[in-house]
Amino acid sequence: MNDRYGRSIDYLRVSLTDRCNLRCIYCMPEEGVYKKSHEEILRFEEILKIVNAAALLGVKKIRYTGGELLILKGIEELIEKTSKVPGIKDIAITTNGILLEDLADKLKESGLSRVNISLDTLKEDKFKQITRGGDINKVLRAIQKCISIGLTPVKINTVLIKGINDDEISDFINLTRELPVEIRFIELMPIGQGEKLYEKGFMSSGEVIARFPELMPLETNKSSTASLYKMKNSKGKVGFISPLSCKFCTSCNRIRLTSMGTIKPCLHSANELNIKEYLNNEVLLTSALKEVIYNKPSQHNLECDKKSSSNKMMYQIGG
Ligand code: SAM
Ligand code: SF4
Repeated sequence: MNDRYGRSIDYLRVSLTDRCNLRCIYCMPEEGVYKKSHEEILRFEEILKIVNAAALLGVKKIRYTGGELLILKGIEELIEKTSKVPGIKDIAITTNGILLEDLADKLKESGLSRVNISLDTLKEDKFKQITRGGDINKVLRAIQKCISIGLTPVKINTVLIKGINDDEISDFINLTRELPVEIRFIELMPIGQGEKLYEKGFMSSGEVIARFPELMPLETNKSSTASLYKMKNSKGKVGFISPLSCKFCTSCNRIRLTSMGTIKPCLHSANELNIKEYLNNEVLLTSALKEVIYNKPSQHNLECDKKSSSNKMMYQIGG
């Protein structure tokens, strides 16, 4: 369905958990997060009810994310059941890739269409530093595995942070010469732990694009959040996601469901609806969703406020 600004909302992003097996410096506090009780977190059956209602309103694409969703038992079943919801055409996940190599086959068989894997450095030591202890080799093997089984296009999310990984931009771009992957450089957002790094660490996409004149612009789908580029003769692509320097609110097609059962019509707005209250009645659930979609805010003000208005963190909302 369309919101009141005429944007067609056909994409639901779901954070399945706020827990994670890593502690990235721009996302989670070092000590981790307060562990929620089972009652506080949506169950898979509840999520499927919401997915069903969203599909009735025209949602076609689902992205499951977190926290880290692959730490959850039964994720393959959730994907399989989601793939059977009438109207759902595309199921993607965003993962840190640590547990993906072993799960990739099963996830594909269950109906997963595509994966986004987060990777902010190509160096083993720096990966340990950024993620506070992760093993990069597991992520690199997961990327190869997804390519080999055709879980493609594999998109690699790289948050750029000045002074931390800006010395590796050309290495990431060069990866696309040989690998059929899309490297997506993401502007650091001042949300959660990102707020602490933002002032010194923010780098705009424009700054990077200006440094690499050999990147050739490609035509980009209207609802795509990334502007796409390519190196001559490369197998992959390079994307830039610029929520601050070139925000994409006018073509935003998504709403979000947090792991605690609230619907957020915008990542950076404080507006939320507790959808748990409507789970026992499909008619009420659908009409509550309809109202949230219709009233989606026109835009965020992150670039002016230098701070997200969201009351939730990235790991609760899903990136
Ligand atoms: N754990 C999974 C992962 O890391 O891919 C999924 C959840 S994570 C919150 C989703 C995405 O949000 C990741 O690509 C991550 O890099 C990004 N992210 C987290 N905090 C961010 C911030 N402050 N600015 C920009 N991107 C951020
Ligand atoms: Fe975990 Fe993803 Fe946040 Fe890193 S970015 S701490 S992997 S949720």
